[in-house]
Amino acid sequence: TYVISQPCVDLKDRACVDECPVDCIYEGKRMLYIHPDECVDCGACEPVCPVEAIFYEDDVPEESKGYYDANVHFFDDL
Ligand code: SF4
Repeated sequence: TYVISQPCVDLKDRACVDECPVDCIYEGKRMLYIHPDECVDCGACEPVCPVEAIFYEDDVPEESKGYYDANVHFFDDL
């Protein structure tokens, strides 16, 4: 799955939402989240993010690792 990280917080540009072919990017209170089970790893969202907040799960920078869990757990309560 792809993961959205810190630069998205309080920005929510949404360019990625228009690119996602399976509509798996959801809006939270302060940022957008990618549903880990629905994402098909196409990578279309990554280059269109104006603040480079999106990474493939294995490429998430060390300081942003917590966002992987944040993306997963956002969907626990839905
Ligand atoms: Fe959607 Fe593709 Fe990005 Fe996954 S990698 S969130 S399927 S655009």
